[in-house]
Amino acid sequence: MASTVDSGTTNLVSYSPVDSRAVAAFAVDDEETVREKVARAREAGSWWRSLGHDGRRAHLLEWRRVMARRLEEVLDLLQRENGKVRADAVVEMTAALAHVDWSARNARSVLARRRVPSGLLMLNHLATLEYRPYGVIGVIGPWNYPVHTPVGSIAYALAAGNTVVFKPSEYTPAIGRWLVDTFEEAVPGRSVLQLSTGHGATGAALCTSGVDKIAFTGSPSTGARVLAACAPSLTPVLLELGGKDAMVVAADADVPAAVEAALWGGCSNAGQSCAGIERVYVADPVYDEFLDLLARRAEEVRARADFGPITMPAQLDVIRRHIQDALARGGRAVVGGPESVQPPYVAGPVILADVPEDSAAVREETFGPVLVVNRVADAAEGVDRANDSDYGLGAAVFARRGAGELAGRMRAGMVSINDVLSFPAVPALPFGGRGRSGFGRIHGADGLREFTVPTARTRKLFDVPLAVSTYARGPRDMARLERLIGWLHSR
Ligand code: NAD
Repeated sequence: MASTVDSGTTNLVSYSPVDSRAVAAFAVDDEETVREKVARAREAGSWWRSLGHDGRRAHLLEWRRVMARRLEEVLDLLQRENGKVRADAVVEMTAALAHVDWSARNARSVLARRRVPSGLLMLNHLATLEYRPYGVIGVIGPWNYPVHTPVGSIAYALAAGNTVVFKPSEYTPAIGRWLVDTFEEAVPGRSVLQLSTGHGATGAALCTSGVDKIAFTGSPSTGARVLAACAPSLTPVLLELGGKDAMVVAADADVPAAVEAALWGGCSNAGQSCAGIERVYVADPVYDEFLDLLARRAEEVRARADFGPITMPAQLDVIRRHIQDALARGGRAVVGGPESVQPPYVAGPVILADVPEDSAAVREETFGPVLVVNRVADAAEGVDRANDSDYGLGAAVFARRGAGELAGRMRAGMVSINDVLSFPAVPALPFGGRGRSGFGRIHGADGLREFTVPTARTRKLFDVPLAVSTYARGPRDMARLERLIGWLHSR
C-alpha cells in the first residue's frame, strides 16, 4: 500500500502479520511533539465544550455515519494491518459503531446537571450535581482490537466534553489514523481528536505531557509503568489490562451450546481477546461429553479461514511455552499441541485437558487459540477455581438452574450467562475488571462518568430559623440542633 508519512522522521513502519509486507509509515512523536498536540487539544476544548451535549451529539453521530460509509476501508485495514479474518473485523466494527452511537445519545441524560435531594437538615438549599469534562484525555491503545478498544475510551471521553490525543499501538498505527481521519471528516479543522504515533516512549511522553487523565488499554506490566509515570503529577488513570477469563459449565448445562461458546470465546480473533475464554471448568457428570464434542468441533476450525495470524511475533513463543509447560506438568493435548504453532499462525485450536492449576497456561494470559479444559466436581468448585486468579476481567457460566447465583459468585467485572463475550456488545453495560485486569470502566453510564469530574453545587434558597453554620448562632440554636439530630437518627 502506498503510505503517507505524517510528519517528522519516519521510523515507525507497520507490517502485515499475514505476509510481513509494510502497510504504512509514520513519524515517531517525541516529547515536544506530544506536548504540542496536547496544547492544541486544550485549545480545541473550549470550542468543543461550547457546543454543549446536543452539539457534540450531532458531531459524534456524524462521525459514526462517516465511519459507516467508509466501512470497507477499515475492514480491509483490519485484515491487512491487524491480520483479522473478515468476520472478526466485522464483529469488531459492529461493537465499535454501537458504542459511538450510545455514548453520543446518552451523554446528556447521564452527565447534565440534575437536582439531587438535599436532605431534611439542608432543605433550604437546592442541591445539584453535574459531571464535567476533565479537559484533555490521553488514550493509549493496544493492537488486538485497534478500533473497538480505543473507541471505548475515545467516544465516551469526547461525548463527555473532553478532547483527546490518541496513541495507537505501534502495530496498528494506520488503523489509528483511519479513526482520526474519519473524525476529521466529520469535524474538520478542530483538533478535537488527534493522532500521536510512536512506540512505548511516545505513550510514556503522553503520560507526562500534562493531560488531565490517561485511559490506557494494554498489558498489566505496561499498565504498571503508566501508573508509575502518572503518579508524580497525580494524573488519574483508567487501566484496562489483561485477562484470564474462565467459563464454568454446570452439570445441567446445555452442553452443545457451551461447547460452541467455549470454542468461539477462546479462538475468535485468534484468541487475542482480553476477555477471551482461556480456562474452562466443567462439572464431572458432563466433562467427558463436553470434551469429546469440543474436540470434534475444534478439528473443524482452522487458522486462515476462521481466525487470523498472531499479530505480535513474540506472542507465538509465549503460546508455545504455555502449551509445552502444560504438557510437561502432566496435562494432555486433546487437539493440537506445540506443533500447532506455525508462525505467524497457530494452525488451529489447541485443547488442553487435566492441566495442573499452577501451570503457566492456567495462571498467565496466553493470548492465543488455546483452551484449558479441566474437570471439577461441580459448578461451585468451578467458580472457586475460576476465582483463583490474579486477573478478574470477564467470566461465563453455563447452567440451567442456579446460573444467576453462580454468576454472582464470580470475581470478575463482567459475567455472561449461557453465552460468551456478550457484555462488550451491550453499550449500556460498563466494561472493565479488577485485580491484575485493572480498574476504572469504559462503556455505559460509568464509562461516560469515568471521563468527568463529578461537580457538586448547592444554592441557598431561603433562611431557616435554625442558625448553625454562622458565628451569629446562639446556644439555643445548637441545643435545638442537638435535639433534632438525636430525634432524627434514633428512629
Ligand atoms: P502493551 O502493553 O504492550 O501496549 C499497549 C500500548 O501501550 C501500546 O500503544 C504501546 O505502545 C504503549 N506503551 C508501551 N510502553 C509504554 C509506556 N512505558 N508508557 C506508555 N505507553 C506505553 O499491550 P498490547 O500488547 O498492545 O495489548 C495486549 C494487551 O492488552 C493484553 O494484555 C490484553 O489483554 C490487553 N487488552 C485489554 C483490554 C481491556 O479492555 N481490558 C482490551 C484489549 C486488550
